[in-house]
Amino acid sequence: MQKKGNKYGVHRVIEPKGLLTQAAGRIDNTMECWSNEILCDVSALNIDSASFTQIYEACGGDLDKTGQMILDIVAQRGKMQNPVTGSGGMFIGTVREIGEDLADKIDLRVGDRIASLVSLSLTPLKINRIKAIHPEIDRVLMLTTDQCSMYCRHCTRRRFAGQHDTSVPVEQIDQCIAYIRETPAVRDVLLSGGDVLMLSDEMLEYIISRLREIPHVEIIRLGSRTPVVCPQRITPKLCAMLKKYHPVWLNTHFNHPKEITREAAEACARLADAGVPLGNQSVLLAGVNDCVHTMKKLVQMLAQIRVRPYYERRQGADVLYPAGKGRRQGGRRRGAAGPEDGDRRSQRGPAPEAGRGLYLLRGLRRHHPQRQL
Ligand code: SF4
Repeated sequence: MQKKGNKYGVHRVIEPKGLLTQAAGRIDNTMECWSNEILCDVSALNIDSASFTQIYEACGGDLDKTGQMILDIVAQRGKMQNPVTGSGGMFIGTVREIGEDLADKIDLRVGDRIASLVSLSLTPLKINRIKAIHPEIDRVLMLTTDQCSMYCRHCTRRRFAGQHDTSVPVEQIDQCIAYIRETPAVRDVLLSGGDVLMLSDEMLEYIISRLREIPHVEIIRLGSRTPVVCPQRITPKLCAMLKKYHPVWLNTHFNHPKEITREAAEACARLADAGVPLGNQSVLLAGVNDCVHTMKKLVQMLAQIRVRPYYERRQGADVLYPAGKGRRQGGRRRGAAGPEDGDRRSQRGPAPEAGRGLYLLRGLRRHHPQRQL
């Protein structure tokens, strides 16, 4: 019989009492699975860039000291939350045990591979030993604007919305490009924001053309929701410009089959015809698309408009589309599985040995035929 966990996770808080786990200074990282928790074997921690850089620099670039500081933080706090930056990161791991309250409510099984975003600042974690640290990065995210084509309720940047909403000054863009030029390890640049296609064609070409001049930059990726919500932005002129600088990829954000309008499909066709590989990320939204049939329809329709499903974001966890043989093919994944994610995952930070994390996950509802939009 497992211990009954509090639905907000406060049964894990050691001090100060009364706070949620993210705000707490210390939480209980006993590797015992409570009734509403999931126990995972962690294979990699991807500590957020600001946090990793702060620790790395505080340790003078010494990897042994960096590892020791990470171990100390986890030992003191029961979670990987940098006390200076307040941030955590994500982990990649395998489900080892599922709490009995969740067993029939979520579509996860023991043995599933899982990635959990922003979990480390609130998730009990134990690291026995760090096997290796990978400080090198081969991809960077370049924020080009605060402006976005949407204001989604689930957006991680919604706290900034309405404050500045401007593009990044050219001087700052130049500094970013200079950094990339001086960092030969960077081979993949993601241009995002906000929404990178809120920039003018001229500004966009200014950035992309300079990146393309850098020999070690192999791939340029754009993050934009305009194909969905502002398809008229995908003009022939824009596509002709992008075509000059291949390989240029674009990731967009369809959440529901009804967002695949004729205009959106035509916008995606213009990009695909210009040789831009398209990917899609979705967010599971309660009552909107948290249903096998809706997601299956979405994935099928995306394939028809030449957009590859890339990943799906749940509350508290990202699910990468399954890859390889021997993966579980039941439940939601049987319904919604699409082309595999493959090589697009980034990892930076320590690879722990026998580290485990517990986190709470709200699952996917199996079917709600009356709740179609
Ligand atoms: S489109 Fe993306 S960046 Fe823009 S508000 Fe939605 S989630 Fe945020």
